[in-house]
Amino acid sequence: MLRVGVTGGIGSGKTALTDWLTEEGITVVDADLAARVVVAPGQPALAEIIAAFGDQYLSPDGQLNRAALRKLVFEDADKRKALEAMTHSRIREELIRQLAAADSAYVVLSSPLLLESGQSELIDVSVVVDAPEATQIARTMERDGNDQALVEGIMAAQLDRETRKSRADIVIDNSASLADLHEQAAILHQTLLARATNT
Ligand code: ATP
Repeated sequence: MLRVGVTGGIGSGKTALTDWLTEEGITVVDADLAARVVVAPGQPALAEIIAAFGDQYLSPDGQLNRAALRKLVFEDADKRKALEAMTHSRIREELIRQLAAADSAYVVLSSPLLLESGQSELIDVSVVVDAPEATQIARTMERDGNDQALVEGIMAAQLDRETRKSRADIVIDNSASLADLHEQAAILHQTLLARATNT
């Protein structure tokens, strides 16, 4: 089956695109959701994380306190590497499992880290959703109510826009309206269906 990666920076419109594809009946595997699955209560990664970083990263309900952990590793590259060593291969296994279980015309892997992690090996074609940085910031602030500095901090830790675009097989320009995005989504969908038939 043709495996299509969708990526883009924060607030670029990945979800807006993949929601449209979902409505067309395409299975979308979400790397952010897979990242939650592998640290759910009872999973070995959760026990390892708590052993390494301490009980304070466990919420009273037994879930990982993701916000606190994100802050910790954002400020400390060594700790971030240690966390990644505990989670990345497990996320990858979960993604492989979900991609293999898909039965739509093609399958999408949506991941903010598609191009900067080994996840690009899991896909046949990459689609980058692109928007100007100011647009990304404005949309994310409106969606999440976050302040600008936080959004800019997250963007600074992500791949820069030009590098990301240069690694894409297909670029979707999401600088205009949602209607415009949906028009491009329809063309993309036809392209991918044709490619899936020939794969
Ligand atoms: P993240 O990486 O943070 O999950 P994302 O790439 O999935 O972000 P979306 O959630 O799809 O981005 O889009 C960010 C916000 O901008 C959402 O509220 C979405 O509805 C809105 N949005 C996306 N595309 C457009 C557009 N073309 N016009 C107006 N609003 C848009």
